[in-house]
Amino acid sequence: MAALVLKRAAPLDRLRAGHPWIYRGEIADLRGPWSPGDVVDVLDGAGHLVGRGTYNPRTSLACRLFAGRGEAVDEALVRRRVAAALAYRRAAGLAGDAFRLVWSEADGLPGLVVDAYGPVTILQCFTLGMTRLVSWVVAALREARPGSRLYRWDDAAAARIEGFTPERGWIDPAGDPSPAEVIVAEGDCRFAVTIGEGHKTGLYLDQRENRPAVAAHAGGRRVLDAFCYTGAFACHALRAGAAGALLVDSSAEALAGARRNLELNGVAERAELREGNAFDELRQLERRRERFGLVVLDPPPFTRRKDALDAAARGYKEINLRGLRLLEPGGVLATFSCSHHVTPALFESICRDAAGDAGVTVRVLEVLGQARDHPVVLTVPETRYLTGLLLQAV
Ligand code: SAH
Repeated sequence: MAALVLKRAAPLDRLRAGHPWIYRGEIADLRGPWSPGDVVDVLDGAGHLVGRGTYNPRTSLACRLFAGRGEAVDEALVRRRVAAALAYRRAAGLAGDAFRLVWSEADGLPGLVVDAYGPVTILQCFTLGMTRLVSWVVAALREARPGSRLYRWDDAAAARIEGFTPERGWIDPAGDPSPAEVIVAEGDCRFAVTIGEGHKTGLYLDQRENRPAVAAHAGGRRVLDAFCYTGAFACHALRAGAAGALLVDSSAEALAGARRNLELNGVAERAELREGNAFDELRQLERRRERFGLVVLDPPPFTRRKDALDAAARGYKEINLRGLRLLEPGGVLATFSCSHHVTPALFESICRDAAGDAGVTVRVLEVLGQARDHPVVLTVPETRYLTGLLLQAV
């Protein structure tokens, strides 16, 4: 095994506290034969073993630590980590029908995402290093979820950056026909998931705890679900007694999924779907003086880079300003950002500015975050990315 030697100035405390990232600039030397994606020993500047991780010379985030000093990166380690991830979710009551079983760094398995959808388990590799460990992951998942059908769906964007060929398809040996679609339960709702299609692995599982929390304010109200994807917020709101819902998304495919879910939940007749740019739709609704008792704004990340934060903040401010203006008196706005660089404090200040410009006094009903099956690791701040506010016009 090759040895990666850190510079003397490398932040060892950060590594020891569980932040597993080593940047290229922190590496002094690489000794012995290696190939991209290999597991390497990581040594500090004095030559002492720090741990072991996978190395990729292509990316500035060059090494991700998997194991501490006393551990080997082997099949047993992967099995322990998968079992621990499942045990945490079971103990917290999160292992329902559809949930995230493994979330990368937050579960000690950098570069791996595993989502459970009823009888199907979908695994995604995000790093070259993880593609090299995938047979151990498959064995661990067979043990953790016996009888589940395994589907591999690597992240194409990450594959380009990391330099591997993304795979997509069933892993199981040929047998009974693989399900093209599964129906999963989420609280009071059921959602259809077409395996291998859509965003993420099929559903935005990171919002699954927020959907019923938001729907609790839907009773008797008219709901706007902007950036609706497959309509999960609207389905919950309508099941919870909303008078009607307008769903807006720019993707026809997403809206087809939304229609299917509205029908599955028996609420389609109270819903209207509109394909379009939500920025324009919000503006038009405002011009027509339409009003809603509940507005949900769940846009895609407006930035993934810190240097584009100002433009992102302007985008968030605009939709929140318009969302607040659409509220009837006493109405509720559920608003989210999934841009990691937009911290909860920054998001709050953007919404405060929007409320100031809209001339609306708002009460903070709840501060929201990502579902607990996407755990935030305090010492890995990058694990916190979804922030939200439930605001009421007073
Ligand atoms: N609320 C959803 C997830 C939303 S994901 C859920 O709980 O499942 C963000 C959605 O915004 C995607 O479906 C994407 O198609 C849509 N989108 C992106 N840009 C948009 C725009 N400018 N106008 C409308 N929809 C947009």
